[in-house]
Amino acid sequence: MPGIYIHIPFCKHKCTYCDFTSFPDKLAFSEAYMACLYKEIELRGMQLKKYVFDTVYFGGGTPSVIDPKYLCGALRQIKRCFRLTGDPEITVEINPGTVSEQKIALYKRAGINRYSVGLQTAIDEQLEELGRIHNARDFVYASRLLRGKNFSADVMLGLRGQTKEDLYKTIELAYRCGASHISMYALTPEEGTPIYTDYLNGELPDDDEVRALYDYGYSLLKERGYRRYEVSNFAKPGFESRHNLNYWRRGEYIGLGVSASSHLGGKRFTNTFDLDEYMKCVISGYLPVVESEDVTKEAAEFEFVMLALRTAEGISSHKYTNCFGTDWKEDFADAYQKTRPYLEEEGDVTRIKDEYLYVQNQILTHYMNG
Ligand code: SF4
Repeated sequence: MPGIYIHIPFCKHKCTYCDFTSFPDKLAFSEAYMACLYKEIELRGMQLKKYVFDTVYFGGGTPSVIDPKYLCGALRQIKRCFRLTGDPEITVEINPGTVSEQKIALYKRAGINRYSVGLQTAIDEQLEELGRIHNARDFVYASRLLRGKNFSADVMLGLRGQTKEDLYKTIELAYRCGASHISMYALTPEEGTPIYTDYLNGELPDDDEVRALYDYGYSLLKERGYRRYEVSNFAKPGFESRHNLNYWRRGEYIGLGVSASSHLGGKRFTNTFDLDEYMKCVISGYLPVVESEDVTKEAAEFEFVMLALRTAEGISSHKYTNCFGTDWKEDFADAYQKTRPYLEEEGDVTRIKDEYLYVQNQILTHYMNG
């Protein structure tokens, strides 16, 4: 079933590695932005009456930085304009430096039932270097507010000077604070961000060092009962993110808000990245889409295989045939033969062997693109 993504583009401060659409100096626009978002929800809702949505995800930016009444209002508007399943998963991304007891209580009352908390690292000097506004104590405070709730913690790999001991402290903190889900991502130094200079200067861990950190983190998470269900995502049984699983299963989703992208009705489309243009467009009664393309059958097949091989579920031949009417091993015969040493088969399922999952992207990109 499709999901709904809502982009809240405001932050208190720009992190040194960030290339997301986020505006650290435009918080004063949040009221006007949210009014436009409500309008976009209404416009889209009128078009999408036939769909029933299973997840809602507030991402950013920092959704928790704005007055909680706006997120609650957006959710009310979603429920008014869209059809949701009886038990939708509703997630909000939270920065530990921006939460309070009252905020969490309001989120809960509005129906939010999952939280994604940006811990990144438990080492305060590293948080400061990343330009994050929180410290480890803020995370502990946030997790106390979330006690007994379904929450995920983000952990980053590849920070300057990061040791296994640092990673141990980070995972142990998330675990002890009760995270039901942990996302462990390698930092990607994007061109144009301050951290890219550190990368060019050779100051960040190299690929082998990051891989060693990942392998170590994976073993710690496994010991603590988190199951890897996607390359970077680990969950206690039953706490996998339904919203993200839908992406990896090549499901449909609608993106709302500035820069949000969508995959629906055989098309992929994206809203404008420009905040002013977004607001002007919606105020004038138009959808703010700037790019749209039909997904060809070949592209859809390729996406299906690439995404499925990121997950522990792997590729189900049966599901592939149901979608496309053909056999994926024949459609990708050459790549399949070449990647066989990295694959394992179980019934009708093919997946990447555990020891290669971390480097699946390099392997698949190499072979799938010929
Ligand atoms: S909090 Fe997230 S979106 Fe905001 S600047 Fe930092 S990394 Fe970017």
